Amino acid sequence: MNTHTIELMTRDGHQLRFNCADDQNLLAAAASAHIVLPAQCGYGNCGTCYADVTQGDYTLGKHNPAALSAEDAQKGGTLLCCTFPQSDLHIALPFDQDRILIGTIKNRCADIIGIETVGENTLRLALCLVEDEEGNQLAEFEPGQFMELNVPGQDIKRAYSLSNIANWEGRLEFLIRLQPDGLFSTWLKEQAAVGQRLQVQGPKGAFGLQESGLRPRWFVAGGTGLAPMLSMLRRMAEFQEPHPARLYFGVNRAEELFCQAELKALQLELPQLQVVYCVWKPEDDWTGFRGTPVDALEKDLNEMMVKPDIYLCGPPRLIDAAETIARALGVPIHQILSERFLPT
Ligand SMILES: Cc1cc2nc3c(=O)[nH]c(=O)nc-3n(C[C@H](O)[C@H](O)[C@H](O)COP(=O)(O)OP(=O)(O)OC[C@H]3O[C@@H](n4cnc5c(N)ncnc54)[C@H](O)[C@@H]3O)c2cc1C
Repeated sequence: MNTHTIELMTRDGHQLRFNCADDQNLLAAAASAHIVLPAQCGYGNCGTCYADVTQGDYTLGKHNPAALSAEDAQKGGTLLCCTFPQSDLHIALPFDQDRILIGTIKNRCADIIGIETVGENTLRLALCLVEDEEGNQLAEFEPGQFMELNVPGQDIKRAYSLSNIANWEGRLEFLIRLQPDGLFSTWLKEQAAVGQRLQVQGPKGAFGLQESGLRPRWFVAGGTGLAPMLSMLRRMAEFQEPHPARLYFGVNRAEELFCQAELKALQLELPQLQVVYCVWKPEDDWTGFRGTPVDALEKDLNEMMVKPDIYLCGPPRLIDAAETIARALGVPIHQILSERFLPT
């Protein structure tokens, strides 16, 4: 067995180093060195631990092509959880240093303080963190990150993006689409109640706002992919960030829309925010955009001289389609950021 030196470079230019044996995956080796990188499933399925190898040899284990395409893999794209070094490696991380935790991921308890239906098959779940041993209740996370929630009584976790922003009261809010026969979905529908206690781990994930001057920010959300967008827009409102902003929010049918009141309230705080509701299969009386958010994005991108930063979240097919259109219309790859809601 050989041991190799792995050098990581974050998007904002910070370097980290650790050692990794050739039978160990990079994510696990980094964690052994107390470097916790954004990740979720740990077996090549979700794409959260995407990075680019810029130098060195490695083998790539079994993974889901929806999480890493053959084309990206050929260009050096990789998933750290299934990358095994064959030499020293240099790796470019597509996020800033603040997304890396030095230490271990926090496990906390949180009580359900609210659970309500906000749209067809969509719930808002609100939790309140229980104080830790040091009396700390702070809900500390960056907009765009997610938490893992344990299915009560089982050693199974599901990832959900936070829709609120960091706060001292320990409040965590999620927007959850109920999947037919889904494990967590069924528990939420049939058993969850205010006062119940859950185990939560996090925050996790690299998705989030990137600093790029005053370049416009366009957010494209499919269904509950709205959750991290709400968090990012709320942060922009909190800091009164002046970037021109647009949100394309897509659902299949108008009955599935949700959070319109929250978005209206945000528009009062962020007057530059435009919201485009996109309904794929509308009734005759629908007066908003008819089509997917990708159709709306394509139409509007065509008219833009300065290409915006594009934030994508929701089902993988929507993200792939939006990425393809954005690239074809001249948006550079480093201006496209995404989070795929893949099943765990
Ligand atoms: C980083 C990340 C963040 C996420 N954030 C959110 C979020 O904010 N809101 C949200 O609603 N979901 C989110 N998801 C998806 C979520 O983690 C679960 O996959 C989803 O809620 C289903 O869990 P379940 O236990 O109910 O279903 P499971 O028991 O996992 O699956 C039941 C059935 O539903 C299918 N299925 C599961 N998930 C999906 C999906 N996402 N799309 C289509 N079919 C699916 C499965 O293939 C299976 O057939 C996120 C996923 C990731 C990786």
